[in-house]
This record gives sequence, C-alpha cells and structure tokens, in this order.
Amino acid sequence: MFLRKRCRHSSRKWQFLLLLLMLGFLLVMVTVLNPTAKDLNKEGESLQVKSIPNEGYQVDFGEPQEILDTQEDSEQYLSMEGLSPFISLREDELLVAIESPTGKRNHTKVKKGYRMVRQQSRKQEEGRQMQDSEFLLQSHLVKEDGSHNQTDAGEQAIGGLEMYGFNEALSKQIPLHRELPEVRHPLCLKQEPSPNLPTASVIICFHDEAWSTLLRTIHSVLDTAPKSYLREIILVDDLSKQEYLKSSLSEYISKLSGVKLIRSNKRLGAIQGRMLGAARATGDVVVFMDSHCECHSGWLEPLLERLASDRRRIVSPMIDVIDWKTFHYYHITDLQKGVFDWRLDFHWKPLTEHEKKVRLSPISPIRSPAVPGGVIAMHRHYFQNTGGYDSDMTLSGGENLELSIKAWLCGGSVEILPCSHVGHVYHADVPYTFPDEEIIERNKIRIAETWLDSFKHLFYKHDRLACLISKAEKPNCTDRIQLKKRLGCKGFLWFISNVYPELYPVQDRPRFSGKLYNTGLGLCMEYQSEKDALGGLLKLSSCSDSINQRFEYNGMKEIRFGSTPQFCFDVRHEEVVLQNCTKEMENSSQHWDIKENGMIVHELSGKCIETMKTALCLQKCNKEAIQIWQFDPSYPIEKR
Ligand code: UDP
Ligand code: MN
Repeated sequence: MFLRKRCRHSSRKWQFLLLLLMLGFLLVMVTVLNPTAKDLNKEGESLQVKSIPNEGYQVDFGEPQEILDTQEDSEQYLSMEGLSPFISLREDELLVAIESPTGKRNHTKVKKGYRMVRQQSRKQEEGRQMQDSEFLLQSHLVKEDGSHNQTDAGEQAIGGLEMYGFNEALSKQIPLHRELPEVRHPLCLKQEPSPNLPTASVIICFHDEAWSTLLRTIHSVLDTAPKSYLREIILVDDLSKQEYLKSSLSEYISKLSGVKLIRSNKRLGAIQGRMLGAARATGDVVVFMDSHCECHSGWLEPLLERLASDRRRIVSPMIDVIDWKTFHYYHITDLQKGVFDWRLDFHWKPLTEHEKKVRLSPISPIRSPAVPGGVIAMHRHYFQNTGGYDSDMTLSGGENLELSIKAWLCGGSVEILPCSHVGHVYHADVPYTFPDEEIIERNKIRIAETWLDSFKHLFYKHDRLACLISKAEKPNCTDRIQLKKRLGCKGFLWFISNVYPELYPVQDRPRFSGKLYNTGLGLCMEYQSEKDALGGLLKLSSCSDSINQRFEYNGMKEIRFGSTPQFCFDVRHEEVVLQNCTKEMENSSQHWDIKENGMIVHELSGKCIETMKTALCLQKCNKEAIQIWQFDPSYPIEKR
C-alpha cells in the first residue's frame, strides 16, 4: 500500500515536472520564433503574415531546404542545369524566396531558407471567390503599415496610366472573372481535342503589374484551361516594388489551387524571369504569358494539340487586343502572321490573298516567321534542350525573335493558331523604367551576331545606333554561336529563302556587290565623304577595304552605295554622282545595265561610265579599258 502510495505520489510529481518542462519549452519556442518574423518584416520583403486578417491557413517556417535567390544560384538556374523541378514540394505549396534579413546579398554559396504557405481548404476558397471584387478593393487600400485607407485608392486611380501604362482605374472596376465574347471561327468549336494531350505549366513573369490585370490573367487561365491539362501556374515576381504584390498577393495565391509563386530578389527581366519559371516547371509544355492577358475559352487545347503532334513547334494564339483605355476586348479577325524587319522589330502582317487561298481550311495553323512575345507555348524539354532564351540578353525585347529564328534554323517551326485566342493589354507607354535605354539594341545585336550571318550588315545599315554600340562594345556571342553549331542549325540565307523571302525581296537583293574596280587604271570607285548639297561625289582611289568603296548592283538595276543604301548612282551634267534613290520604275536616270564585258551602261542615255582623271563621266561606249569595270568578289553576296 505504502509503496503504491509512494509510487503514486512519485508519478504525480513526475507528471508535474513534465508539465513544467513542456510549458518552459513552449515559452522558449514563442520567444525564438517571434523575433525572426519581426526581423523579416523590417526588410519589407517578408510575407507579413501578421497583418493578414484571414486565419484560414498556416505559416510553416520549414527547415531551410533550397535557395532561389542568391546571385550564384540565379546563374545556375538561368543556365537551367542541375535543377530539379518542384519535386520536394507538394503541388499546392507556395514557394517564396525571401530577401536576406540584412538586406545584403549573400555572395557565399550558403543556402537560405524559403517559406511555404500551405493551401487553404477548398471550401474556404469557394467562399472567397464570391468576394473577389471586395478583396480586390481592399487590397488596394492596404497601406504599408497594414492599415486601410480610402484616399490611397483614389490617388492610385489618378496615377494609373503613368504607373501601369493603361487605365488601371477602370481595370480594377472590371470583375476578375469576366467572360469574353465568342470570337472563334465556328469550325473551331467542332474540334475535338485528342486524348492524352500534354500538360501545361503557365509561367507568368511580372514586374510591378497592376493587381487587377495580374489577377485577371491568373483567373482567366484557371477558368479556361481544363484542369486535366493545366499542370500549374508559376508566377515569377521580378522584384516588384508595389506593396500589394507582396503579402496580399502571397495570401491570395495561397488559396488558389495549383498556383505557385517565385520571388526574385534581383531584377531579372522577362527573359531570365521566364527561364527561372521554366526551370521550375513540371508540365510537358511551358506557356509563357504576359501578366496582363485574358484567355478566351478553348485557348489552350489547340496549342497543346499542335505541340502533341510535333515536339519541335513553337506556337502562339491569335493575340486579341484589350484596349488600354476602355478595356474593351477587340478580337483580331484578319489572319495574320508574325514578321520582323531589318531593324529586328516585330510586326503583324495580314496574310496575302494568295496565302489565304492555299490554306487547307480557314482554321489551319498559320506558318509564321516569328511569334509575338506575349503568349508562347512549346515543349519544356524542347525549350531547354535548344538553349531556351539567350540568357545574355537583358530584361526584355527581341527574345521572341531570337526564339523564332532559332527554331526555324535548327529544325523546328513556328505557328500562330487561329482557334486559340488570348487578349493582351498593349501598353500605351512602357510603364517600368529600363535602367538603360540601349538594352533592347544590345539584345538585337546579339540576334544579329548569332543568327544573321553576313546579313547582319543589313541590320546594322538599318539600325545605326546598334551599329555604333556593336563597334564600341564588340559583343561576345560565342556561347550562342557554339549552341548553333551543336544544334546543326542552318544559315540565315535559308531562312530568307524558305521562311520569309519578303524580308529581302528579290529586286532588292544585290546581284553583285563589293569594290568597283577599273581595269584600265587599276583603281577603285570611292564615295567622297564630303558631299555637296545635291548628293555625294564619286572619285577614283587606290583599292582598299574602306567602307566607302562598297557598292551593290541590285535587281532594280540600281547601283547603291553599300553603307548608305538610300544613295544610288545618278547622273548630273554628264558626271556620275550619288543621289537619293528615287525608286522610279520607268525612265529613271538611276538605272544601269552591267554588260558581261564589264561596261556599265546608263540606260536613259545609252552612254558608259568612263574614268576621266579621278572623276567618273558618261561617254559614248567604246569598250576601252577605262570603261571596263569589275565587281571585286571580296564581298560576295552570301558572305557580306
Ligand atoms: N516584365 C518583367 N520584368 C521586366 C520587364 C517586364 O517581369 O523587367 C514582365 C511584364 O510584367 C510582363 C512581361 O514581362 O508580364 C512582358 O513585358 P511587357 O508586357 O511590358 O512587354 P510588352 O507586351 O509591352 O512587349
Ligand atoms: Mn505585355
């Protein structure tokens, strides 16, 4: 009995001690965790979970597992090597890379932690979806300190255009879920998707995007893409500064099924941001989408359908226009293809009557020299195995052309699909600042140096700024050129001949080009840089590699000055001079006939170009050596 009593007594004592121990442990945990959250909040980059009034989910300060945001690692994921997809995370987890508490970048390879916000239950999510517009309004009213203020929203409405490049004040009054009018050809509605289409990861990279347009983009993907095909949406926050894109967005996203968020703590730009998203994607197909789009129902299936039948395609929907001012949705009725010019600027070009006629059906895919930048889909492995975007390009601009040219030259193809429609808000003005205005020029230079071969001279002719930058900086595209070799890509001449001959119409192509060598005197024609008021003068000089000695004879029978192609050979008082090209088809004083024997005959007068001391004059043709010219083949057309 006694013993039993003692024993009982002793067990109570132990229970009491255990209770004390547990209480102590809890106290320690509370004091350890609190300062961490505070420290993070100081930097303004944390999730700020304390200020979120909704308690429907938990915050899990998990073990440090993986970093996404040190510089070294950025390089690693941008090169897309050695990266595992989100295998360690559940589908419904939200991944957030956080700034180091000191705000300084950690240059060592020490791995930092990320935090996961687990998803709210579906029931709660449904309840929330009923209140989208309310949430939207509130989110705009959240001040930095977490309090709400009506005036702030008013101020934001006034500043909308400047800040976002469109009428954001109107945009935020439009529901986040809006149904778009049916714009597809009736035949599109009869298409049955094949079984087992590939799955898609939609990657939306954004920098200071408006809340309303970003959320409308996300919801329209969720509302229109069949669940069985939509593997995930990956949002990449490219160092946005707006407060609502931090905690409010994290909270909002955490309640959406299959939406992940990656935050970068350095400005990546759309090109590298998309690459980061792609490196984390798990779907068969990646779809890169701008953060101000609205998807039309049935937009995804045609893209997946085309990618299922050929893994080396790059496809794009018809990009409809969401008016930046009225937010009206205007659908594109004309069949168009994506093209570019010698300045490497992208344009839409309506199909010609002939192109329309030869189409099998009004809904057949449109073979396109290039895709626009806003919405692009391709197989994830194809994207990665063919070198993705050029990771040495900066921020954004030109990447869609690089991707398209690469695809065509390296065994792939590019198409616009008429049954797939996605609307895009074209900015009234670029809303964000480029740190350097010449960034797009540099990206274009990389395209020219990598893919245009000798035709890069045409780009430099049309874009003098690029020419100057390129000469001064001598860009290094070795990696990309090696990739081109490794992939066994064709030359740009193939692209011009087979994909987009309109880029370089036959009549514009030089039949001869190079130095104009006079056999009689052994001298070359040269442009005299000090021109008079009426144009440029020509003289004879000893032959050199000077740019002033390069001329082109084209299918229009013009002889153009190589480095200023708007200057044509003309005649003034019997002297041969350079004048602005007139492009007159008939009776032009700028038409020349180059005979097989080397005489250059002025068509209008029937006279020949003859050297007279160092000047060039028109004289009656007599086949003398001073009238015989040769195009020096040191600049043959395909090697120019
Ligand atoms: N973007 C980005 N970082 C940047 C610039 C742009 O993440 O430094 C995003 C931007 O938010 C948009 C996409 O990249 O989702 C394409 O940019 P934008 O829409 O300005 O290009 P545009 O459609 O005007 O050519
Ligand atoms: Mn855009």
